[in-house]
Amino acid sequence: MKVDPTQQAHATPHAHAPASDFRHMSREEFLHAGGEVLAFIADYYQALGLLSDAVEATTTKPSSVSFARASFTPGEVTSVRSLSKPGDLLGALPMHAPTQPEPWRALTDDVEKLIMPGVTHWQHPGFFGFFPANASPPSVLGEMLSAGLGVQGMLWATSPACTELEIRVLDWLARLAGLPERFWNQSEPGGAFLAGGSVILTTASEAVLVALVAARKRALDRLGPTQYSDNAPVGMMIYTSSQAHSSVIKAAMVAGLCAGPTPDAHDANLVGPIGRGSHQSGVRLIPVDERGAMRTELLQAAVENDVRAGRVPVLICATAGTTASMGFDDLHAAGTLARTHSAWLHVDGAMAGVASICPELRKEVWGDERCESLNLADSVCFNPHKWMLTNFDCDAFYVADRKALTSALAIAPSYLKNAASDSGAVVDYRDWQIALGRRFRALKLWFVMRSYGTSGLQSFIREHIRLAQLFESFVRSDNRFELAAPRGLSLVCFRLKPTKGQSAQQADGMNAKLLEAVNATGRHLLTHAVLPAGALPARYVLRLSIGGSATREVHVRSVWEDIQRCAGTLGTLS
Ligand SMILES: *Cc1c(COP(=O)(O)O)cnc(C)c1O
Repeated sequence: MKVDPTQQAHATPHAHAPASDFRHMSREEFLHAGGEVLAFIADYYQALGLLSDAVEATTTKPSSVSFARASFTPGEVTSVRSLSKPGDLLGALPMHAPTQPEPWRALTDDVEKLIMPGVTHWQHPGFFGFFPANASPPSVLGEMLSAGLGVQGMLWATSPACTELEIRVLDWLARLAGLPERFWNQSEPGGAFLAGGSVILTTASEAVLVALVAARKRALDRLGPTQYSDNAPVGMMIYTSSQAHSSVIKAAMVAGLCAGPTPDAHDANLVGPIGRGSHQSGVRLIPVDERGAMRTELLQAAVENDVRAGRVPVLICATAGTTASMGFDDLHAAGTLARTHSAWLHVDGAMAGVASICPELRKEVWGDERCESLNLADSVCFNPHKWMLTNFDCDAFYVADRKALTSALAIAPSYLKNAASDSGAVVDYRDWQIALGRRFRALKLWFVMRSYGTSGLQSFIREHIRLAQLFESFVRSDNRFELAAPRGLSLVCFRLKPTKGQSAQQADGMNAKLLEAVNATGRHLLTHAVLPAGALPARYVLRLSIGGSATREVHVRSVWEDIQRCAGTLGTLS
């Protein structure tokens, strides 16, 4: 970086000397403290096996890691899951902010003493819970630079690099993931913007809300004013599967199209209805088949029913890789239906969509190798912050018609007017998202894609798929266990089979105990899901979600050993 600090000091130093205790760190203090923070993170990553030269150290000792340095250190990781009790940290923190500046050492002491015990180690190689939230060295450095520049990228004009880097890295990612051209920003450098485009949003949750708002606007424009005047809003329906992410219902709640997560008493599949008859809005949760995929014949029936009743299908949200069990909806069927009824198809590929960077996995993710079903989608998103080594937050959101999005979200107060925006030659990302302000998120994604290279990113994903296949074979080889759903990419759902005479409820209880016992070792963290089982009651199952930045074969073997051992001692636990 070519900033010469001596050149920055030309302003008269005391002209605006603060009258109070206000004072910034000096360059030396900042470098010293910053070096400590970086060393802290480096030690942490080293112990977790997240840095390359620590591979051997971790393979021999995956369970507990400790730190030898004398100063500011992350402490000892004795449990992946934080062992804090509710209120532990609150009880230790003062009620007021300090009046006088505190020394740096006081802060680092408290990070060690107060904060680290309350941290769950998401970057630990034994973290198999939920879905991963990858971090990586280049991404951390990208975040650091973004924080350091402190840029607000709401408009192109407020920091052109923030917008233009985002445009290009998202096009890199679109091509890498094989997304159809309708989701690209440009087809050549310097070329005109295409009809479609992309933006980095905070989360997949924001993506579905943004998609819904665009879909609603498009529906209202299509219906014209007469259809929804007289204070009688038209009923707007949203369709998704019973296994879709909760963010779909939440988006409908935020958009005022659903009252909340409670089902309608008369219609088990309708959630939070608002209004009545043809004025009724709400979310229809379509049941899934045994693979966790939305039953498209039921989706079609629900849509047609609503149309007959005078309601308007606004959004179909299909999931590519459900959170609970990696079920994949039939995108072609959902897209065809959406086309027929002029509804918007949003494809939520939060975790699984990342795997599309490996050509051989596209069929599993989108239903066909050439991603052709996505030609029927209006928007699609996935999360590099889950499984592509990019720190939270980073959701890649792609839209086929950028105008549909900006016409729903653009608003230009006079103080933001500027010549570049007026020229129409630039993208102003504030019109593509909920908030006005935005961070320089493209930096970390750019750092990650360049540091690992696309072949490195693909190897990372492929290794996790291989490990999940390995774990699947472990489960199949032990007849006390069964797969609770077909393995999807790097997620394996499994459970202990009910023993003879055991009720469904007892079997669930036994599996919950197994999960608790495995997590209590501190070496690993798994989470559970409750999966529908056709006409039978839903079942409690364990999920092994592989995708951590530092997770390797030794950790998958180790967690299976723990699971087997804990299963063996279950009888003595009760
Ligand atoms: C994790 C997940 C989400 C939510 O992701 P955020 O980016 O945290 O909002 C949404 N949909 C699916 C299918 C997910 O797995």
